[in-house]
Amino acid sequence: MGPHEPLSRRGFARIAALAGALPVPVLTERALAQLSYPGEAPPDAVLLNANENPLGPCPEALEAMNAMLRRGGRYQFGETLRLARTAARLEQVPETHVQSFAGSSDPLHRTVLAFCGPGRAFVTADPGYEAGERAAAFVRAPVHRVPLTQDHAHDVEAMLRAAGREAGVFYVCNPNNPTGTLTPRAAIEHLVREKPPGSVVLIDEAYIHYCEAPSCMDMVREGRDVVLLRTFSKIYGMAGLRAGLAFARPDLLDRIRPYGTGFLPVTGMAGAIASLEAKGVVEQRREYVRKIREELFAWLREKQIDFVPSVSNKVMIRTPKPGREITAAMAARKVIIGRSWPSWPNHVRVTIGTPEEMQKFRAAFSEVVSS
Ligand code: PLP
Repeated sequence: MGPHEPLSRRGFARIAALAGALPVPVLTERALAQLSYPGEAPPDAVLLNANENPLGPCPEALEAMNAMLRRGGRYQFGETLRLARTAARLEQVPETHVQSFAGSSDPLHRTVLAFCGPGRAFVTADPGYEAGERAAAFVRAPVHRVPLTQDHAHDVEAMLRAAGREAGVFYVCNPNNPTGTLTPRAAIEHLVREKPPGSVVLIDEAYIHYCEAPSCMDMVREGRDVVLLRTFSKIYGMAGLRAGLAFARPDLLDRIRPYGTGFLPVTGMAGAIASLEAKGVVEQRREYVRKIREELFAWLREKQIDFVPSVSNKVMIRTPKPGREITAAMAARKVIIGRSWPSWPNHVRVTIGTPEEMQKFRAAFSEVVSS
């Protein structure tokens, strides 16, 4: 690949987008959620549609961001570096192997732009998190959606077959969005080992803190062809404040760096650093969500409503009629739940909320599925 090739392709795609030929491609979970529930939800609605954390930032993060507000007149680029350094220390990776971003959508998007294109496919799970597909379409890369296995893991063998030698990015979300299910570590290792040269495995650990599964951070430490993403939008409750991290070998980070600028909001940086340093946040919140999720599962079993057992903060629930109708009927009761996937039209994704929110969910869902 010549040094100017990706730039000219990107330039073309940008012009096409400006001309209105393509939609604006960067879509976060919130934007995707709004495709199934367009418009503003009423202020008293229960929001279980975007895998957000109803607890919001932890007290330590709130305090750090409050203090930062008064210093907000300065760019303070050092905060961006400080977040990366803090993460490097805590994750035991070299500082050269981590970069801060305003959320993880940004590096997800950049990785697809950098490694995919015509003849360099984006390979993903189905159902899976769709944001990468939009970026792939933007650079005219083929997209291969590969159904999950019976156990709802990524089918890595089928993913490798689907792309052949033409792979740019293999996207593995672990635990997966929307199913909240895990892909065994051995399968990810196999994928990383067997993928064609020049491609990368994009490991999205947006939800890893909700479960006890091992992270793939050791693959970054070992210098494998992986880009690993983390976000502060989920367990740390900072979706609107924007902070995230990409971990990868320096040469891979160099490939994704030119697709944007590096200036990040200092409130997000300060909150993220404080969240990482705070003791017990992950463990307490994981347990909080686990308990509410298990209560929901018990209720669903009692009602004989089928669902996919999840280890995350969301669950796919089977619906007796098209999921879109259920979502609309729930919205009419001011409970906004997540979308259905084209390949799973009779499931809806429901985010785990507070006990009070889940009480409202159960009341509305009982009505809707029995009507
Ligand atoms: N990756 C996955 C799997 C997600 O579900 C989301 C958001 O829901 C993101 C990445 C991006 O989130 P953010 O940009 O808020 O970090």
